[in-house]
Amino acid sequence: MPYVTLPLLSRRGFLAAGASVLSLRAAASEARWALFSDTHVPANANEAYRGFQPAVNLTMAVRQAAKIKPEGVIICGDVARLEGYVADYEAVKTLIEPLTSTTPLAMALGNHDDRENFWKGFGSDQKGMEPVKNRHVVVLDPGPVRFVLLDSLIKPNTTPGLLGRDQRNWLAGWLRQSTDKPVIVFVHHTLDDGDGALLDAPRLFDILKGAPQVKAIIYGHSHIYKYDTWEDVHLINLPAVGYNFRDKDPVGWVESVFTAKGGQFTLHAIGGNTEKDGQVTRLEWRS
Ligand SMILES: [Zn+2]
Repeated sequence: MPYVTLPLLSRRGFLAAGASVLSLRAAASEARWALFSDTHVPANANEAYRGFQPAVNLTMAVRQAAKIKPEGVIICGDVARLEGYVADYEAVKTLIEPLTSTTPLAMALGNHDDRENFWKGFGSDQKGMEPVKNRHVVVLDPGPVRFVLLDSLIKPNTTPGLLGRDQRNWLAGWLRQSTDKPVIVFVHHTLDDGDGALLDAPRLFDILKGAPQVKAIIYGHSHIYKYDTWEDVHLINLPAVGYNFRDKDPVGWVESVFTAKGGQFTLHAIGGNTEKDGQVTRLEWRS
């Protein structure tokens, strides 16, 4: 199955594969997705950082995630080790293949990605891509909710992030049209006021003030697993798959189930602090 597709939900796939199974999927009231972030995979699988081998971690996460039979997989940025080499993306593609052979994959770009190389590795015509100039923006419709993956990469291996005016304008316009179901926003960068965060986060929040259908923002970057809210919008910080920055944080991925009313998130800690492995967090969407 090609990368970054939702064949079960597309009209063409529906007609090609027969209606009986697919109508069940299309009508499903919940969507189960594997959420990865900060995989930081190097071309050389032996490369280690802080005692972690990101390639080994991704292999473990993929093996675990395959067991839950997700309907899709997201990597929320920093897919590549540091500079975003094509060889890094080739390595990711190979490591994640056990999942993507049956499951679509969509990726947001982070500050350790390189957009051109990413497109070289995974293709520049991925399904769900929106026409935002020099940005990798993806919209997916998993059923009960809609995902929008934003692109906050400014320059490879430079810490802060920025959506930029064109992408913000696109988002504002898209949100005016996309009002029929809850929207979950994915973006790599943290949303605080730090110099290494999403620099135009306040402008993103301004846009969301007029978009009550946005229920959650899911992000990475900090390599910390935590939950916050902003005006009843859930802010979900995914753990890193590749490595943590502090011993007290888990390394791993999050199993998610989305419905029209809320979400359920289960931590799968594969390294670092594994105390909260299996912890389930249930969230209700704002009305
Ligand atoms: Zn990272």
